[in-house]
Amino acid sequence: MNAIDYLRISLIDRCNFRCQYCMPEGAALDYLLKSALLQDDELLLLLREVFTPLGFTRFRLTGGEPLLRPNLAELIAHIAALPQTQDISLTTNGFLLAEQAADLYAAGLRRINISLDSLDADTFDSLAGTKGRSRWQQVWNGIQTAYEIGFDPLKLNVVVIPGVNDSELMDLAALSIERAWHVRFIEFMPIGNDDLFSDRGWIPSEDIRQQVRDRWGLDEGFVLGNGPADVFKIPGAKGTLGFISQMSECFCDRCNRMRLSADGWLRPCLLNETGQIDLKTALRQGREPAELRQQVQQLLQLKPEINYKERDAGTTGRYAKTMSQIGG
Ligand code: SAM
Ligand code: SF4
Repeated sequence: MNAIDYLRISLIDRCNFRCQYCMPEGAALDYLLKSALLQDDELLLLLREVFTPLGFTRFRLTGGEPLLRPNLAELIAHIAALPQTQDISLTTNGFLLAEQAADLYAAGLRRINISLDSLDADTFDSLAGTKGRSRWQQVWNGIQTAYEIGFDPLKLNVVVIPGVNDSELMDLAALSIERAWHVRFIEFMPIGNDDLFSDRGWIPSEDIRQQVRDRWGLDEGFVLGNGPADVFKIPGAKGTLGFISQMSECFCDRCNRMRLSADGWLRPCLLNETGQIDLKTALRQGREPAELRQQVQQLLQLKPEINYKERDAGTTGRYAKTMSQIGG
Protein backbone atom coordinates (compact mmCIF):
# COMPACT_ATOMS: atom_id res chain seq x y z
CA MET A 1 0.00 0.00 0.00
CA ASN A 2 1.22 3.50 -0.83
CA ALA A 3 2.07 5.82 2.03
CA ILE A 4 -0.35 8.75 1.88
CA ASP A 5 1.95 11.64 2.71
CA TYR A 6 1.06 14.30 0.14
CA LEU A 7 -1.63 16.95 0.63
CA ARG A 8 -2.87 19.20 -2.16
CA ILE A 9 -4.22 22.35 -0.63
CA SER A 10 -6.53 24.68 -2.53
CA LEU A 11 -5.97 28.18 -1.20
CA ILE A 12 -8.74 29.91 -3.12
CA ASP A 13 -11.55 28.98 -5.51
CA ARG A 14 -11.33 32.22 -7.52
CA CYS A 15 -9.22 32.76 -10.58
CA ASN A 16 -8.14 35.61 -12.86
CA PHE A 17 -8.46 33.31 -15.91
CA ARG A 18 -11.46 31.49 -17.30
CA CYS A 19 -9.86 28.46 -18.92
CA GLN A 20 -12.33 26.81 -21.23
CA TYR A 21 -11.66 23.38 -19.74
CA CYS A 22 -11.87 24.47 -16.12
CA MET A 23 -14.16 27.42 -15.34
CA PRO A 24 -15.39 28.74 -18.69
CA GLU A 25 -16.82 32.22 -19.03
CA GLY A 26 -20.51 32.20 -18.33
CA ALA A 27 -20.38 29.12 -16.10
CA ALA A 28 -22.41 29.57 -12.96
CA LEU A 29 -19.82 29.44 -10.20
CA ASP A 30 -20.72 30.21 -6.62
CA TYR A 31 -17.59 31.74 -5.21
CA LEU A 32 -16.86 31.29 -1.57
CA LEU A 33 -17.10 34.29 0.69
CA LYS A 34 -13.78 35.29 2.21
CA SER A 35 -14.98 34.11 5.61
CA ALA A 36 -15.79 30.69 4.16
CA LEU A 37 -12.18 30.10 3.14
CA LEU A 38 -9.99 28.17 5.51
CA GLN A 39 -7.96 30.97 7.10
CA ASP A 40 -4.15 30.91 7.39
CA ASP A 41 -4.17 30.18 11.13
CA GLU A 42 -6.73 27.39 10.65
CA LEU A 43 -4.73 25.82 7.85
CA LEU A 44 -1.50 26.01 9.84
CA LEU A 45 -3.18 24.50 12.89
CA LEU A 46 -4.48 21.61 10.78
CA LEU A 47 -1.06 21.03 9.25
CA ARG A 48 0.69 21.18 12.62
CA GLU A 49 -1.72 19.19 14.72
CA VAL A 50 -3.60 16.92 12.33
CA PHE A 51 -1.74 16.26 9.09
CA THR A 52 1.96 16.18 9.99
CA PRO A 53 1.40 13.90 13.01
CA LEU A 54 -0.31 11.48 10.59
CA GLY A 55 2.73 11.44 8.30
CA PHE A 56 1.93 14.15 5.75
CA THR A 57 5.22 15.79 4.82
CA ARG A 58 4.67 17.12 1.30
CA PHE A 59 2.33 19.92 0.37
CA ARG A 60 1.20 21.48 -2.90
CA LEU A 61 -0.59 24.82 -2.94
CA THR A 62 -3.10 25.26 -5.71
CA GLY A 63 -6.56 26.69 -6.45
CA GLY A 64 -8.27 28.46 -8.27
CA GLU A 65 -5.31 30.72 -8.72
CA PRO A 66 -3.15 30.57 -5.56
CA LEU A 67 -1.25 33.78 -6.37
CA LEU A 68 -4.52 35.64 -5.65
CA ARG A 69 -4.37 34.55 -2.03
CA PRO A 70 -3.36 37.47 0.20
CA ASN A 71 -0.14 37.00 2.22
CA LEU A 72 0.82 33.93 0.21
CA ALA A 73 4.58 34.27 0.79
CA GLU A 74 4.07 34.51 4.54
CA LEU A 75 1.88 31.41 4.52
CA ILE A 76 4.50 29.52 2.53
CA ALA A 77 7.21 30.56 4.98
CA HIS A 78 5.14 29.13 7.86
CA ILE A 79 4.52 25.85 6.04
CA ALA A 80 8.16 25.57 5.03
CA ALA A 81 9.17 26.15 8.67
CA LEU A 82 7.16 23.18 10.00
CA PRO A 83 9.80 20.66 11.09
CA GLN A 84 8.08 17.82 9.22
CA THR A 85 7.81 19.62 5.87
CA GLN A 86 9.94 17.83 3.31
CA ASP A 87 8.54 19.41 0.20
CA ILE A 88 6.37 22.38 -0.69
CA SER A 89 5.29 23.20 -4.23
CA LEU A 90 2.79 25.40 -6.03
CA THR A 91 0.67 25.25 -9.20
CA THR A 92 -0.12 28.58 -10.87
CA ASN A 93 -1.36 30.03 -14.14
CA GLY A 94 1.71 32.29 -14.00
CA PHE A 95 -0.05 35.59 -14.64
CA LEU A 96 1.11 37.19 -11.37
CA LEU A 97 4.34 35.22 -11.17
CA ALA A 98 6.82 37.77 -12.52
CA GLU A 99 5.93 40.12 -9.66
CA GLN A 100 5.70 37.46 -6.91
CA ALA A 101 8.37 34.88 -7.82
CA ALA A 102 11.21 36.46 -5.79
CA ASP A 103 9.09 36.70 -2.62
CA LEU A 104 7.85 33.13 -3.01
CA TYR A 105 11.40 31.87 -3.44
CA ALA A 106 12.59 33.85 -0.42
CA ALA A 107 9.75 32.29 1.59
CA GLY A 108 11.12 28.82 0.87
CA LEU A 109 9.23 27.71 -2.24
CA ARG A 110 11.47 25.84 -4.69
CA ARG A 111 9.19 23.75 -6.89
CA ILE A 112 6.67 25.31 -9.21
CA ASN A 113 4.25 24.15 -11.90
CA ILE A 114 3.03 26.74 -14.38
CA SER A 115 0.19 26.15 -16.80
CA LEU A 116 1.10 26.91 -20.42
CA ASP A 117 -1.35 25.43 -22.90
CA SER A 118 -0.08 27.17 -26.01
CA LEU A 119 2.84 29.09 -27.48
CA ASP A 120 0.50 31.01 -29.72
CA ALA A 121 -0.85 34.12 -28.01
CA ASP A 122 -4.26 33.94 -29.70
CA THR A 123 -4.78 30.26 -28.93
CA PHE A 124 -3.57 30.88 -25.39
CA ASP A 125 -5.99 33.73 -24.80
CA SER A 126 -8.85 31.87 -26.39
CA LEU A 127 -8.22 28.88 -24.09
CA ALA A 128 -7.62 31.02 -21.00
CA GLY A 129 -10.74 33.10 -21.64
CA THR A 130 -8.60 36.25 -21.81
CA LYS A 131 -9.26 37.30 -25.40
CA GLY A 132 -8.75 41.02 -25.94
CA ARG A 133 -6.60 41.20 -22.79
CA SER A 134 -3.67 39.20 -24.18
CA ARG A 135 -2.11 37.42 -21.21
CA TRP A 136 0.42 35.19 -22.97
CA GLN A 137 3.42 37.52 -22.73
CA GLN A 138 2.87 38.16 -19.05
CA VAL A 139 2.72 34.42 -18.35
CA TRP A 140 5.85 33.85 -20.43
CA ASN A 141 7.62 36.59 -18.43
CA GLY A 142 6.53 34.80 -15.25
CA ILE A 143 8.04 31.53 -16.47
CA GLN A 144 11.33 33.23 -17.43
CA THR A 145 11.50 35.07 -14.11
CA ALA A 146 10.89 31.88 -12.11
CA TYR A 147 13.57 30.10 -14.12
CA GLU A 148 16.11 32.87 -13.63
CA ILE A 149 15.42 33.00 -9.90
CA GLY A 150 16.24 29.30 -9.69
CA PHE A 151 12.96 27.41 -9.21
CA ASP A 152 13.81 23.77 -9.75
CA PRO A 153 12.13 21.71 -10.95
CA LEU A 154 10.11 24.11 -13.04
CA LYS A 155 7.25 22.25 -14.72
CA LEU A 156 4.96 23.47 -17.49
CA ASN A 157 1.46 21.96 -17.52
CA VAL A 158 -0.28 21.53 -20.87
CA VAL A 159 -3.90 20.33 -21.00
CA VAL A 160 -4.24 18.76 -24.44
CA ILE A 161 -7.44 19.65 -26.29
CA PRO A 162 -7.98 18.10 -29.73
CA GLY A 163 -8.35 20.71 -32.46
CA VAL A 164 -7.25 23.50 -30.14
CA ASN A 165 -3.60 23.04 -29.13
CA ASP A 166 -2.76 19.55 -30.42
CA SER A 167 -0.97 20.92 -33.49
CA GLU A 168 1.72 22.55 -31.35
CA LEU A 169 2.50 19.76 -28.89
CA MET A 170 5.93 19.10 -30.40
CA ASP A 171 6.80 22.82 -30.13
CA LEU A 172 5.81 22.65 -26.48
CA ALA A 173 7.81 19.42 -26.01
CA ALA A 174 10.83 21.17 -27.57
CA LEU A 175 10.84 23.66 -24.64
CA SER A 176 12.42 20.84 -22.59
CA ILE A 177 15.49 20.54 -24.83
CA GLU A 178 17.60 23.63 -24.17
CA ARG A 179 16.50 24.44 -20.63
CA ALA A 180 15.67 22.29 -17.62
CA TRP A 181 11.97 22.88 -18.16
CA HIS A 182 9.79 19.88 -17.51
CA VAL A 183 6.82 19.83 -19.86
CA ARG A 184 3.83 17.76 -18.76
CA PHE A 185 0.99 16.79 -21.03
CA ILE A 186 -2.30 16.28 -19.21
CA GLU A 187 -5.19 14.34 -20.71
CA PHE A 188 -8.31 16.48 -20.81
CA MET A 189 -10.81 15.32 -18.21
CA PRO A 190 -14.60 15.69 -18.25
CA ILE A 191 -14.70 18.00 -15.27
CA GLY A 192 -15.36 21.73 -15.50
CA ASN A 193 -16.73 21.83 -19.05
CA ASP A 194 -18.72 18.80 -20.18
CA ASP A 195 -19.79 20.46 -23.43
CA LEU A 196 -16.22 21.12 -24.55
CA PHE A 197 -15.30 17.58 -23.59
CA SER A 198 -18.20 16.14 -25.60
CA ASP A 199 -17.24 18.32 -28.60
CA ARG A 200 -13.51 17.74 -28.53
CA GLY A 201 -12.79 14.54 -26.64
CA TRP A 202 -9.25 13.82 -25.50
CA ILE A 203 -5.96 12.53 -26.85
CA PRO A 204 -4.25 9.55 -25.20
CA SER A 205 -0.74 10.25 -23.88
CA GLU A 206 0.61 7.36 -25.91
CA ASP A 207 -0.28 9.18 -29.16
CA ILE A 208 1.82 12.15 -28.03
CA ARG A 209 4.70 9.91 -26.96
CA GLN A 210 4.62 8.33 -30.42
CA GLN A 211 4.91 11.75 -32.05
CA VAL A 212 7.95 12.47 -29.86
CA ARG A 213 9.51 9.08 -30.70
CA ASP A 214 9.01 9.70 -34.41
CA ARG A 215 10.62 13.13 -34.21
CA TRP A 216 13.47 12.79 -31.68
CA GLY A 217 13.28 9.38 -30.00
CA LEU A 218 12.24 9.01 -26.36
CA ASP A 219 14.24 7.89 -23.31
CA GLU A 220 13.13 7.12 -19.77
CA GLY A 221 13.43 10.21 -17.56
CA PHE A 222 13.28 11.32 -13.96
CA VAL A 223 12.18 14.49 -12.26
CA LEU A 224 11.50 15.20 -8.61
CA GLY A 225 7.79 15.21 -7.88
CA ASN A 226 4.89 13.54 -6.15
CA GLY A 227 2.63 13.08 -9.04
CA PRO A 228 1.22 10.37 -11.22
CA ALA A 229 3.17 11.49 -14.30
CA ASP A 230 5.08 8.97 -16.39
CA VAL A 231 8.39 10.69 -17.08
CA PHE A 232 10.47 10.49 -20.26
CA LYS A 233 12.95 12.72 -22.01
CA ILE A 234 14.02 13.66 -25.48
CA PRO A 235 17.53 12.17 -25.83
CA GLY A 236 20.09 14.78 -24.70
CA ALA A 237 17.45 17.23 -23.41
CA LYS A 238 18.03 19.17 -20.20
CA GLY A 239 14.39 18.84 -19.10
CA THR A 240 11.88 16.01 -19.20
CA LEU A 241 8.46 15.20 -20.63
CA GLY A 242 5.74 14.04 -18.25
CA PHE A 243 2.45 12.41 -19.20
CA ILE A 244 -0.53 12.51 -16.89
CA SER A 245 -2.91 9.94 -18.24
CA GLN A 246 -5.88 9.82 -15.95
CA MET A 247 -8.22 9.05 -18.87
CA SER A 248 -6.25 6.27 -20.55
CA GLU A 249 -4.78 4.71 -17.44
CA CYS A 250 -6.01 4.24 -13.87
CA PHE A 251 -3.27 5.22 -11.45
CA CYS A 252 -5.34 4.90 -8.28
CA ASP A 253 -3.05 2.15 -6.99
CA ARG A 254 -0.14 4.65 -7.05
CA CYS A 255 -2.11 7.47 -5.44
CA ASN A 256 -0.36 9.03 -2.45
CA ARG A 257 -2.47 12.14 -1.93
CA MET A 258 -5.45 13.71 -0.26
CA ARG A 259 -7.01 17.06 -1.15
CA LEU A 260 -8.05 19.91 1.06
CA SER A 261 -10.50 22.27 -0.62
CA ALA A 262 -10.41 26.04 -0.16
CA ASP A 263 -13.36 25.80 2.24
CA GLY A 264 -11.68 23.14 4.32
CA TRP A 265 -13.20 19.86 3.11
CA LEU A 266 -10.77 16.98 3.08
CA ARG A 267 -11.48 14.59 0.22
CA PRO A 268 -9.73 11.33 -0.58
CA CYS A 269 -9.87 11.62 -4.36
CA LEU A 270 -10.33 14.25 -7.07
CA LEU A 271 -13.43 12.53 -8.42
CA ASN A 272 -14.75 10.65 -5.45
CA GLU A 273 -16.08 12.29 -2.30
CA THR A 274 -16.56 9.15 -0.23
CA GLY A 275 -15.95 9.89 3.42
CA GLN A 276 -15.00 13.53 2.95
CA ILE A 277 -14.65 15.58 6.14
CA ASP A 278 -15.59 19.21 6.78
CA LEU A 279 -12.51 20.14 8.80
CA LYS A 280 -13.15 23.89 8.80
CA THR A 281 -16.58 23.60 10.39
CA ALA A 282 -15.25 21.10 12.89
CA LEU A 283 -12.49 23.52 13.89
CA ARG A 284 -14.87 26.44 14.16
CA GLN A 285 -17.14 24.35 16.38
CA GLY A 286 -14.21 23.96 18.73
CA ARG A 287 -13.50 20.29 18.11
CA GLU A 288 -10.13 19.14 19.41
CA PRO A 289 -7.30 18.37 16.97
CA ALA A 290 -6.99 14.88 18.48
CA GLU A 291 -10.55 14.11 17.43
CA LEU A 292 -9.97 15.44 13.91
CA ARG A 293 -6.78 13.42 13.68
CA GLN A 294 -8.76 10.30 14.44
CA GLN A 295 -11.31 11.12 11.73
CA VAL A 296 -8.60 11.78 9.16
CA GLN A 297 -6.88 8.55 10.15
CA GLN A 298 -10.12 6.67 9.44
CA LEU A 299 -10.33 8.28 6.02
CA LEU A 300 -6.71 7.30 5.36
CA GLN A 301 -7.63 3.70 6.09
CA LEU A 302 -10.55 3.90 3.68
CA LYS A 303 -8.51 5.51 0.92
CA PRO A 304 -7.01 2.39 -0.74
CA GLU A 305 -10.55 1.22 -1.57
CA ILE A 306 -11.51 4.52 -3.18
CA ASN A 307 -11.13 4.56 -6.92
CA TYR A 308 -11.84 7.43 -9.25
CA LYS A 309 -13.11 5.10 -11.95
CA GLU A 310 -16.06 4.46 -9.66
CA ARG A 311 -16.74 8.15 -9.69
CA ASP A 312 -19.03 9.61 -7.16
CA ALA A 313 -20.85 12.08 -9.35
CA GLY A 314 -22.54 13.84 -6.45
CA THR A 315 -26.17 14.74 -6.31
CA THR A 316 -26.21 16.49 -9.69
CA GLY A 317 -25.36 13.34 -11.61
CA ARG A 318 -22.32 15.21 -12.86
CA TYR A 319 -19.21 16.10 -10.93
CA ALA A 320 -20.47 18.25 -8.15
CA LYS A 321 -17.39 20.46 -8.12
CA THR A 322 -14.92 21.80 -10.67
CA MET A 323 -11.12 21.55 -10.47
CA SER A 324 -10.94 25.18 -9.36
CA GLN A 325 -13.26 24.44 -6.44
CA ILE A 326 -11.58 21.21 -5.37
CA GLY A 327 -8.04 22.31 -6.03
CA GLY A 328 -6.66 20.75 -9.20
N1 SAM B 1 -4.77 28.07 -11.58
C1 SAM B 1 -3.66 27.20 -11.49
C2 SAM B 1 -3.26 26.65 -12.84
O1 SAM B 1 -4.05 26.78 -13.78
O2 SAM B 1 -2.17 26.10 -12.94
C3 SAM B 1 -3.85 26.06 -10.50
C4 SAM B 1 -5.21 25.40 -10.44
S1 SAM B 1 -5.63 24.46 -11.89
C5 SAM B 1 -7.23 23.90 -11.44
C6 SAM B 1 -4.56 23.07 -11.71
C7 SAM B 1 -4.37 22.23 -12.92
O3 SAM B 1 -5.58 21.63 -13.29
C8 SAM B 1 -3.88 23.00 -14.14
O4 SAM B 1 -2.68 22.44 -14.61
C9 SAM B 1 -5.00 22.82 -15.12
O5 SAM B 1 -4.52 22.84 -16.39
C10 SAM B 1 -5.61 21.50 -14.68
N2 SAM B 1 -6.99 21.31 -15.16
C11 SAM B 1 -8.06 22.09 -14.92
N3 SAM B 1 -9.16 21.58 -15.53
C12 SAM B 1 -8.77 20.46 -16.16
C13 SAM B 1 -9.44 19.48 -16.97
N4 SAM B 1 -10.75 19.57 -17.26
N5 SAM B 1 -8.73 18.43 -17.44
C14 SAM B 1 -7.40 18.31 -17.15
N6 SAM B 1 -6.73 19.18 -16.40
C15 SAM B 1 -7.38 20.26 -15.92
FE1 SF4 C 1 -7.93 29.33 -13.39
FE2 SF4 C 1 -6.18 27.35 -13.32
FE3 SF4 C 1 -8.77 26.85 -13.77
FE4 SF4 C 1 -7.37 28.08 -15.64
S1 SF4 C 1 -7.02 25.98 -14.86
S2 SF4 C 1 -9.41 28.71 -14.90
S3 SF4 C 1 -5.98 29.26 -14.47
S4 SF4 C 1 -7.90 27.62 -11.92
